Amino acid sequence: MDIKYFDNAATTRIKEEVLEEMFPYLSVEYGNPSSVYSIGRKARKAIEEARKQIASLINCKSYEIYFTSCGSESDNMALKGLSYAQMYKKSGKDHIITSKIEHPAIINTCKTLEKQGFRITYVDVDENGLVNLNSLENSITDKTFLISIMYANNEIGTIEPINEIAKIAHKHNILFHTDAVQAVGNIQIDVQKSNIDMLSLSGHKIYAPKGIGALYVKKGIEFERFLDGGHQERDKRSGTENVAEIVALGKACQIAEKNLDQYHRKLIDLRDYFISSIKNRLPNIKINGSMESRLPGNCHLSFDNIESGELLLKLDEVGICASGGSACSSGDNSISYVLAAIGLPSNLAKGALRITFGDYNTIEEVDFLVDALEKIVNPYKQ
Ligand code: PLP
Repeated sequence: MDIKYFDNAATTRIKEEVLEEMFPYLSVEYGNPSSVYSIGRKARKAIEEARKQIASLINCKSYEIYFTSCGSESDNMALKGLSYAQMYKKSGKDHIITSKIEHPAIINTCKTLEKQGFRITYVDVDENGLVNLNSLENSITDKTFLISIMYANNEIGTIEPINEIAKIAHKHNILFHTDAVQAVGNIQIDVQKSNIDMLSLSGHKIYAPKGIGALYVKKGIEFERFLDGGHQERDKRSGTENVAEIVALGKACQIAEKNLDQYHRKLIDLRDYFISSIKNRLPNIKINGSMESRLPGNCHLSFDNIESGELLLKLDEVGICASGGSACSSGDNSISYVLAAIGLPSNLAKGALRITFGDYNTIEEVDFLVDALEKIVNPYKQ
């Protein structure tokens, strides 16, 4: 059976050009980048080239990029790295502000930091998932050293008002980190224009393999490493570099930068076509999240008479891959905390479906999806 893949927020299929670029570093170019001989130097050069490609995509200097093993590690490195720096220098600052709809890589890092004595405020979002800027500013105290708000939400696709949040943070001399794992490569990001101090990104959301990520840290910001060992990544992240995947991430960023406008347009066209077709056939569906400030490839919708688990299984029977939101997709039937935070009634939260488009999707696949959804949902008299 042909797979129709509509879960590009979960992961993406590696691009051929990316595979081709990384492959030599899994075979003939196997040198350790810390070695002085020629194959070692070649690996080092490839890493530095990838660093430049990533820096170019988000408009920072290449020495401001640190490689990690994934987006989750980048988030841990940012939050723990800054927190431990405050602790070691006994600044007395112990307060972080984040939101209620962050990815578990942020929420659970905050939970760990709470156990270690840090205080965390989880600010509310409105019914579209937008962070309330007044609550954010009102929760700042003289102990706050960090605001961490995601660039775009992984479930409902809402893009947060990043420039305004950075402005508030800097007005109060607070650092601003953003988890941009869902945003990088999908929308234009400029860390200088937006005044971002730290930014997390991940390879497998942008057609590179799983297991590679990066953290941007603005020059001059002090942070502690949390993985001890050798001196790699300027002493901030030990471990022999994953050269092949670093090269892959660099290539994926280069492709993303080159094609960004065209890719953005393509995703919006697919999504808008899907929304108008599905609304035509099933007028009672509810679209969740902001329509004005939203990732181009995201459509998050709710049905009030079928539960996500059943819907996903029936879609899978006809070869369609989609998601019910993070909690549901892992086989857990509880309501997603993101949907609870936007105040979605529980029947609609239970019937949530996340469709996320990518570069390989076609209009014909969207037609197939809409037909399948109508057939599955209609017997329930939607
Ligand atoms: N942050 C967000 C917003 C995500 O969507 C994800 C992955 O889904 C992550 C962090 C974690 O990234 P990784 O899977 O590379 O650890």
